[in-house]
Amino acid sequence: MLEGMTDTGHPLAPPAHERPLLDAALDLAAGFAGTAAALDESAAIPLDNLRALHAAGLDAATLPESLGGQGLSYRAYGEIVRAVAAAEPSTACIWVMHIGAAGALAALSPEPEAARFAEALRSGSRFANALSEPAGGNLFLLPQQEAVADDDGWRLSGTKRFVSGCEIADHLLVNALVDGVPTFFGVDPDDTIGYVPIWDTMGMRATRSQLVSFDGTLLRGDRRCAPPEPDQPNHVSAGLAFLSIGIAEAALAALVAHARGRVVPTTGEPLARMQWVQHAVADAAVRLDAARLSARHSVWLADQRSPGFIPATLNAKLLAGEVAKDIAQLGVSVGGGSGYLRTSPIQRHFRDAQAGALMAYSAEVCRTYIGSALLEDAPDEP
Ligand SMILES: Cc1cc2nc3c(=O)[nH]c(=O)nc-3n(C[C@H](O)[C@H](O)[C@H](O)COP(=O)(O)OP(=O)(O)OC[C@H]3O[C@@H](n4cnc5c(N)ncnc54)[C@H](O)[C@@H]3O)c2cc1C
Repeated sequence: MLEGMTDTGHPLAPPAHERPLLDAALDLAAGFAGTAAALDESAAIPLDNLRALHAAGLDAATLPESLGGQGLSYRAYGEIVRAVAAAEPSTACIWVMHIGAAGALAALSPEPEAARFAEALRSGSRFANALSEPAGGNLFLLPQQEAVADDDGWRLSGTKRFVSGCEIADHLLVNALVDGVPTFFGVDPDDTIGYVPIWDTMGMRATRSQLVSFDGTLLRGDRRCAPPEPDQPNHVSAGLAFLSIGIAEAALAALVAHARGRVVPTTGEPLARMQWVQHAVADAAVRLDAARLSARHSVWLADQRSPGFIPATLNAKLLAGEVAKDIAQLGVSVGGGSGYLRTSPIQRHFRDAQAGALMAYSAEVCRTYIGSALLEDAPDEP
């Protein structure tokens, strides 16, 4: 699929000159696939995978040329997330958060901090997004925790939760209310920051998205970010649909392999010959193709710096998250008792596939925005 997009010069395909980076990501993903079951079992951070992505130049490539990067297109970035997610989705999730936090800090911090964060990404430091609050839920861009003024900036006491890869992060993107206004800061973890091990989850276990506690943590005035431009694309919202699409592709592949190999005792034929399986797989494949096109359209808009990027991203995230869940559920039906065994990838894909629709903005929040935009004069902003 990726090869076809690039070779045909399709407008939604990444630019041809980015082909070497895509090939590097595909090669790495092939190796990551062999780590997925063990990482799910151990719930250990996939540090080797993340370091390999950095060593291949993929982290630095996402920075603009003005910050020492290659200005990788959002189209190529999406394909990389998709390929890594199909192989090992926790690696893809942490990478999306890492690139999103680093990109925001490099773009929005005042100098010389912006250059320092860009150099940190290029040299292999790790970043995480500490944005979601226990009481804030999905509305992660609207923090409720107030930072208190201090001589060198502000102090934050409180918690952020579900912070993917926080335990290995050298730098955090943190938001808090400053004089009632949501404000972003770059924070280097010190002994005022703690990690509460809440992340014992049904899926995406190796993201280790723990609760992070702040006890009077200094939010430095010289690391106060400028407000993001409302229409500026960012790598987290651009990447989440591709995360679900990768999981959906892996779930469909596992389903197809099982259906081809499992002979139904009563008919003596493989499951793959049964009409209900063929019809269900056809519907799954068509919806997955639609989800890929929707996601690819959203990142094409991001590359055009079109304001249409935001609604397109919500459409794509909603569709991809629901398609991933449905295909993973079909896998469980087709897999039968064999797919229910812990040794089967089918049950792992089913568990991982739930995450996309839960992550902000959740499927329900996306629907509220899309539906109210159609039905009301003043649509609800997510
Ligand atoms: C795998 C994973 C990785 C994550 N990584 C990070 C990370 O790195 N950094 C980070 O900051 N956060 C991260 N998150 C948090 C994530 O982005 C969400 O903020 C979080 O999952 C919301 O969870 P919650 O329990 O507070 O849900 P809630 O917001 O309480 O949602 C519960 C239910 O209520 C619905 N709901 C909530 N608000 C509305 C609304 N306004 N309208 C309609 N329905 C609504 C939801 O759709 C859902 O059905 C991660 C989450 C997951 C699952």
